Amino acid sequence: MNIPILDLKEQYQSIKSEINEAVGKVLGETQFILGPEVKKLEEEIAEFIGTKYAVGVASGTDALHLALRAMGVGKGDEVITTPFTFIATAETVLLAGAVPVFADINPDTFNIDPESIEKKLTSKTKAIIPVHLYGQCADMDKIMNIARKHNLKVLEDCAQSFGAEFKGKKAGSFGDTSAFSFFPTKNLGCFGDGGMVLTNSEEVAENLKMLRGHGSKVRYYHDIEGFNSRLDTLQAAILRVKLKYINEWNEKRRNAAHLYNKLIKDSGVKTPVESGEGKHVYHQYTIKCKKRNELKDFLAGAGITSMIYYPLSLHQQKVFECLGYKKGDFPRSEKVQDEVLSLPIFPELGEERIKIISEKINEFYR
Ligand SMILES: *Cc1c(COP(=O)(O)O)cnc(C)c1O
Repeated sequence: MNIPILDLKEQYQSIKSEINEAVGKVLGETQFILGPEVKKLEEEIAEFIGTKYAVGVASGTDALHLALRAMGVGKGDEVITTPFTFIATAETVLLAGAVPVFADINPDTFNIDPESIEKKLTSKTKAIIPVHLYGQCADMDKIMNIARKHNLKVLEDCAQSFGAEFKGKKAGSFGDTSAFSFFPTKNLGCFGDGGMVLTNSEEVAENLKMLRGHGSKVRYYHDIEGFNSRLDTLQAAILRVKLKYINEWNEKRRNAAHLYNKLIKDSGVKTPVESGEGKHVYHQYTIKCKKRNELKDFLAGAGITSMIYYPLSLHQQKVFECLGYKKGDFPRSEKVQDEVLSLPIFPELGEERIKIISEKINEFYR
């Protein structure tokens, strides 16, 4: 038996003819950079999430980086974010020339804790980057209130939360900007790298379009220092097909998660906590457990892959030594990094395999 953490083959098989047709069309038209499919996808995603503008870029990392620059975040600015996330969230703050400042998390939801944000505010604070980790929204009411009160920008890191909701609104519709990743493993993933920035500000959207294309509005006239960061037409064509299925796929992820909850609730592990204020789309199904590493090995022995997202908080990463943090600075983040384990989850996982995995977890703790 072999159960991977994620299997993209089954999904491709289920929509193969549509995908191949869409790809074939782009190949025939040969407009590979910012072709018509990119514009259509931008419109469709802006509409789906509920913002006025969307700008396709080359990756989720670029989406974060360019969003910061487009909002005017840079040298001399501090940006508050979570230490319990993927490296790109804070790496891009440095790339934009600003300083990442960490604030501890809520250990139940794994998301940044608004009270901790308030303690980190200084006269240099310019922006907040909440991450909707594992597919569940951070507390956007409290975060937006802090931002309004102190005149700060908010950039939502939506890389793991396509389709997630908070109080009836979609993740990515709260902040001044929001950054999405279409990395293949994300809930809405393409067949390579891709990303997008959403905003309601025409000015920010115009800045983004310049930044992704060498700082130019009119071809060969360059107004600002820019980058080469565009979403491929091929990826946009693939994403337009997959966008039609995202609600159905996210529902299947939620059903899978709820079945896990039911089957392993008596094993002693802590199943994911839904805040009750929105819709978790389970990019990851992440439990907290005792003897985490032993459980991981035990599952591996049974052919079941599980993963640790993330084993080391960002303030403890070597690359951020320059920021001067030390062990103990963010105790909640440091504690959960030793307890979390993400189990296989994808829309096609199905009841059968969830039962097998759950039985193994129950057996381990018996
Ligand atoms: C995947 C991810 C990113 C980066 O996206 P890429 O498309 O891989 O560059 C950023 N933030 C978080 C939280 C992610 O999970």
